[in-house]
Amino acid sequence: MRKIIHLDMDCFYAAVEMRERPELAGLPIAVGGGSKRGVICTCNYKARQYGVRSAMPGFMARQRCPDLVFLPVRFDLYRATSQVIRAIFHQYTPLVEPLSLDEAYLDVTDAGRYAWDIAREIRARILSETQLTASAGIAPNKMLAKIASDWRKPNGQFAVLPEQVHAFMAALPVRKIWGVGPKSAERFAARGINTCGDLQKLTLPEMAAQFGKWGEELYHLCRGEDNRAVRPHRIRKSLSTENTFFDNLTTLAECQEAIDKLGREVLDDLRAKVPERRIRNAYVTVKFSDFTRTTRQCVCTTPTLEIWRTLLAEAWQRKPLPVRLLGTGVQFADDDSDEDDDHDSAQERQAELFAADEA
Ligand SMILES: [Mg+2]
Repeated sequence: MRKIIHLDMDCFYAAVEMRERPELAGLPIAVGGGSKRGVICTCNYKARQYGVRSAMPGFMARQRCPDLVFLPVRFDLYRATSQVIRAIFHQYTPLVEPLSLDEAYLDVTDAGRYAWDIAREIRARILSETQLTASAGIAPNKMLAKIASDWRKPNGQFAVLPEQVHAFMAALPVRKIWGVGPKSAERFAARGINTCGDLQKLTLPEMAAQFGKWGEELYHLCRGEDNRAVRPHRIRKSLSTENTFFDNLTTLAECQEAIDKLGREVLDDLRAKVPERRIRNAYVTVKFSDFTRTTRQCVCTTPTLEIWRTLLAEAWQRKPLPVRLLGTGVQFADDDSDEDDDHDSAQERQAELFAADEA
């Protein structure tokens, strides 16, 4: 049985903006939606009291709340805060799957502690390091954890224990299942199906006949069954460092000295930041004084200074020119590079659409 935590920041972009601009305290604010055809990314709880919602067109939000303060989206700022939050997650488990800048699944099955306590501790640390609140859902799978994180929002947490899943699902509105939108919910309601408990009365063949492949998935989801693993897939593919020289290097010996220095930096970084990653190859980049660039790489699982030096010697021979820039690095072996196109990534695509709209 897995132990999954879904951590979700409370109205993240708006909360970051309020932290950065204390003069906005107490005002209804929306991030995004200020442009002519813009859509709101996030709004604070004050704005929600007026019926303003994320994904709502700006003009509609203004009708509901004439005093609404529209702020431009500042992704660099949210990204920086997101990095702080993710660093905290990684201190509890390597199995972190970010869904967007402000939410992630954590698999803490092997953490050797109560998931409830871990969630509380993570939320406290997020608060002290970012001055922002987060909510958490704790459950035996991803679907339930995500639903549960909404239950005590803002600044709260809720657990669905394995023995509670049956009762929890029986009372849960079908609309709460991923992929069941307002239109599907309406169609269900017309047939007397309002809760997941109602939906459970349909047999697997009935579900499949009516909803196709999705029906099969729905059959399991409405019972609170979800076997998807937490996959830390948005991870860096390489690690490297490079240096542009004030005076071009003219001899191989000078280049080797420089490459040793860069190589040591990469080795230190590998040890400190990603000791668990498997390495696929090592490479050296050389940029000559005519600004052409060449790269030499080799298959390699444990890079050493000697390997980079050998690659450098080969790359250096390619042109009889002084060297402007040198770089060294490694590429990681992908454990599972196949993209899992589930509802989460659909949600992220949606978030990206908001971002594009604002740009
Ligand atoms: Mg959130």
